Amino acid sequence: MAFSVRATSSSAHHIARNVVSKTRSSCSSSLASKRSQGMAGKKMSPSSSSIPFRFSSSSGRKSAMTVQAAADGPVCVVTGASRGIGAAIATQLGAQGCRVVVNYAASSGPAEEVCKTIKASGGDAIAVQANVAKQEEVDALFKAAVDAFGEVNVLVNNAGITRDTLMMRMKLAQWQEVIDLNLTGVFLCTQAACKIMGKKKPVKGRIINITSVVGVTGNAGQANYSAAKAGVIGLTKTVAREYAGRNIQCNAIAPGFIASDMTAELGPEIEAKILTTIPAGKYGQPEDIAGMVRFLALDPAAAYITGQTIHVDGGMVM
Ligand code: NAP
Repeated sequence: MAFSVRATSSSAHHIARNVVSKTRSSCSSSLASKRSQGMAGKKMSPSSSSIPFRFSSSSGRKSAMTVQAAADGPVCVVTGASRGIGAAIATQLGAQGCRVVVNYAASSGPAEEVCKTIKASGGDAIAVQANVAKQEEVDALFKAAVDAFGEVNVLVNNAGITRDTLMMRMKLAQWQEVIDLNLTGVFLCTQAACKIMGKKKPVKGRIINITSVVGVTGNAGQANYSAAKAGVIGLTKTVAREYAGRNIQCNAIAPGFIASDMTAELGPEIEAKILTTIPAGKYGQPEDIAGMVRFLALDPAAAYITGQTIHVDGGMVM
């Protein structure tokens, strides 16, 4: 893949200033967290969720007796799982004994590290490079998942980019690149996953789309990003309606402002202003998003939740 998906720090600053001036966060992937990359190597704390596909216990974790066995939990495809929030999601699912497909665009080294962490925590994982904005690469991603693990039970549409600028200055290419990945990519992966989920009887699947609070609020400088994220919310509701009767749930998570080294670089003055816009008075962490994914993906208590957009934003949007 030719393009670099890493956002510039200037776009992060741009977004942070919007947060201050608009009192609502852009909460974009340009706040990509080097800190959250670090978490990929961190062992997750045990959760209280359980895995409906394999485990009837509500303890969630495999027991000490079984943790050494080859992972046989739900097969979870996580797009954009080499860094940031996606790495946190993949790691948490892996720690629950899931078999995780760690998708990435360019960062093969970090993706392999995420896989190592998952295997060390009792899960199983493969890293698969694929640009999920492209149909043929999405097909190859899901083929790799089925070849490795035989099925797909959970899809987390997490991969996302920003190409921020004011609407009047936005080039069609900047608009299109973000729509292609952040919205069309979600459609392509969802379609591919539903085909596979529908083949295994009884059908059981969970799809979680990572949108953003700006998909609800809009944000200056993010016409492309907020339109894509709003589209993801609409897509989520439609998929939920089409598949609820076939036992596939589809929900979205709208993260707020997620802490990162980049936000730390903004300096204490801007940080203090940003914090005044967050009722919780602090940034979220990638683990906060991953925890909600874990619940929606694995917990039996989430089986009757579909078509919802759940804000994980410290109360920024309510
Ligand atoms: P990030 O750290 O920039 O990571 C983006 C991930 O997406 C990387 O794993 C990257 O892979 C992957 N990716 C990029 N382009 C791709 C493509 N064409 N195909 C497949 N994978 C691709 O982003 P993040 O901050 O964790 O954000 C994750 C999601 O949360 C995004 O959808 C974002 O919009 C959303 N979100 C984030 C925030 C926030 O504050 N961070 C707030 C609201 C919503 P490589 O490493 O290989 O490039």
